[in-house]
Amino acid sequence: MAKKMPEPIANRMFKNMFVCMKCNAKIRAAPDKVKIHKIKCRKCGSKQLRLKAKERRGQKA
Ligand SMILES: [Zn+2]
Repeated sequence: MAKKMPEPIANRMFKNMFVCMKCNAKIRAAPDKVKIHKIKCRKCGSKQLRLKAKERRGQKA
């Protein structure tokens, strides 16, 4: 079984990270601001963001 990433590292990598649903740009923002749609993608201006999924190491794109 693959070893899980230590919690602090996973937090640093994925906490407050969102991905634009339109252009897949990564955006770091406070989750409560994303919830009330205060955050816009700086690339395409979309407000449709999703939480960045926790990817496993070695996962193929
Ligand atoms: Zn975008």
